[in-house]
Amino acid sequence: MNNHQNSFSPPIRILATRRRRRTVSARLRSGVLEVMVPASMSVAERERWVELMRERIERQMRRKLPTDQRLAERAKRLNDRYFAGRLSWTSIGYTDTVSLWGSCTFTIGAIRVASRMKAFPDWVVDYVLMHELTHLVHSNHGPAFHEMLDRYPMAERAKGYLIAAQQLSQMQGGA
Ligand SMILES: [Zn+2]
Repeated sequence: MNNHQNSFSPPIRILATRRRRRTVSARLRSGVLEVMVPASMSVAERERWVELMRERIERQMRRKLPTDQRLAERAKRLNDRYFAGRLSWTSIGYTDTVSLWGSCTFTIGAIRVASRMKAFPDWVVDYVLMHELTHLVHSNHGPAFHEMLDRYPMAERAKGYLIAAQQLSQMQGGA
């Protein structure tokens, strides 16, 4: 994990109000961290609170992030449904270093899904998982591979979604 890249550092707005006596509160609004502090609070004290609130909200956000455990559960469900539970893999998880959406090192059975897919709908993530799971049976992209992969009913829609997402990220200067 790249800590610098994943560190949560939103723009911060401090709202000082006379109505507030002692309490500090914070909320995330349109990507801006708003921290409400009493007007009487010193600058040093405000800064300390801003950092505390940033850390608290970061922890809350991390708890909501989709986990590798969730990927493993989805893969197991797909395995049961489309492969009669016959597939096995050694590890599965999100990564920042995959070149496109996913990768499967079929020799050791390691499946990786791009971290930027965490925000994608489940049926798109499932399609990428299906693709990588299918590689556990067929290492290349031949006709037998596609025949197996196309059993996933949302395959065509998911391909369209991924193409659009890729173009959007290129337009925004992403990878
Ligand atoms: Zn492939």
